Amino acid sequence: MAEFAEPLARLIAECKRLPGIGQKSAQRIAFYLLRSPREDAQRLAQALLDIKDKLVLCETCNNISDSEQCSCCRDPHRDRTKICVIEEPHNIVPVEATNFRGLYHVLHGAISPLRGVGPEQLRIKSLVDRLVSGEVEEIILCTNPTVEGEATAVYLSRLLKPLGPRITRIAMGIPVGSDLEFADEVTMSRSLENRREM
Ligand SMILES: [Zn+2]
Repeated sequence: MAEFAEPLARLIAECKRLPGIGQKSAQRIAFYLLRSPREDAQRLAQALLDIKDKLVLCETCNNISDSEQCSCCRDPHRDRTKICVIEEPHNIVPVEATNFRGLYHVLHGAISPLRGVGPEQLRIKSLVDRLVSGEVEEIILCTNPTVEGEATAVYLSRLLKPLGPRITRIAMGIPVGSDLEFADEVTMSRSLENRREM
């Protein structure tokens, strides 16, 4: 393989470290940037630095924010009686795409004994603190339908129930628009467990 000039080789190597980017994509990105105006490269470099320098975690819900309180926590029109608990900040996106307009709490992970992640490594204490005011009526456990997500939901349910709010878990089952034929056993049995009256 032909040798690239050092700065170009370095950019390709950096791009390759990004998720989902292999050698070919890294080269394509690097050559694209090489051909782009200097201002474009400057904007990209600045955007990369800004996410490191200008973002903090919201003091209330641990969402990624550019100020002490994130846009959700600042919004006076949100229903402050409901908190949707999620594992990672990007999990807010699919929930926001629905008409849910309550508040969030980001745990920044899930309980995983195999990877050495216990409840103390997650942002659980700040969630307990949010219940003190008595304003919160429902905690919606929206962790992933994985072993870790389930373990986290069970742990939180036991911890938070005695504090008063209603604890709910998102339903799991057959995806909308799919066929029962393609459902695995676990998904099918979950769907049956979570069936509702019609
Ligand atoms: Zn917040």
